[in-house]
Amino acid sequence: MQVLVVGTIALDTVETPFGKKEGILGGSAVHASISSSFFSNTSIVGPVGEDFPAEHLDFLKTRNINLSGLENIKGKTFRWSGYYEFDMNQAHTRDTQLNVLLEFNPVLDANLKKTPFVFLANLDPEIQLKILNQLECPKLTAVDTMDFWIKSKRDVLHEVIKKVDFVLMNEGEIRMFMETPNIPLAARRLIKLGAKAVIVKQGEHGALLFTDDYHFSAPSYPQEIFRDPTGAGDSFAGGFIGYLAKTGDLSEGNIRRSVIIGSVMASFNIEDFSLDRMRRLKVHEIIERFDEFKKFSDF
Ligand code: AMP
Repeated sequence: MQVLVVGTIALDTVETPFGKKEGILGGSAVHASISSSFFSNTSIVGPVGEDFPAEHLDFLKTRNINLSGLENIKGKTFRWSGYYEFDMNQAHTRDTQLNVLLEFNPVLDANLKKTPFVFLANLDPEIQLKILNQLECPKLTAVDTMDFWIKSKRDVLHEVIKKVDFVLMNEGEIRMFMETPNIPLAARRLIKLGAKAVIVKQGEHGALLFTDDYHFSAPSYPQEIFRDPTGAGDSFAGGFIGYLAKTGDLSEGNIRRSVIIGSVMASFNIEDFSLDRMRRLKVHEIIERFDEFKKFSDF
């Protein structure tokens, strides 16, 4: 397997201006691994409870995702409930029920430990740190987080960031974490903490990549079909790392291309609730949209 994704496997309740859906498939690891699976062989690590519908696992299997790191734990699956107003860039959490996440203490098997590309999706930073400590010479590691963990486990998150290559956060999260409204400055400070590069996700406005040596700005996609932004960040990350793993090329040019691939995957994910657009997505559509990105950002 080329990509390892660790994160939450969830049942979400989501309300947007386009409707409300209860108990739908979600979770940071699910969105990221489905997206990654379009490019690379992907393994998922995360906990599910006894109430997790088998049909969701069947869907992951249809994408050839390796489920050997999926842990069945007695109790209820992680649940998140949130809503979006007209500004769908901003998620509002109504309720987070950690449930089986509280019991989750992953031990990677010999194969998973050797996975070269690792994405630590939004999850308790203590678990992210445990995973990092089990990896045997990864080629590239990336981490995501959210306000929930920044508020409750800031110090552990610092430890995680010291050990990873790429940090992905959205605008609000990086401002909160680095305690400045200025995004380039916040990115600079994050790199000083130890990360090699920072990707700031700006929702429908695109994404920014910062390293010590260069800066890249991915354009926004003029998306007119926009029903549910949940999982956009994770779909971005899955596409980004899945494409890097597929190509094995960590040059600046290819990292820029991977950021665009991430943006393409996020732009599909928001077209429908849960993973519904990803279920119907075809590889030729990804290629066509990638070419569109190229055309409309050329000058
Ligand atoms: P995003 O890509 O940021 O929109 O991520 C959305 C997914 O994150 C949802 O499907 C949720 O199940 C999951 N999620 C929400 N809160 C948390 C949390 N505190 N920790 C981990 N995952 C979460």
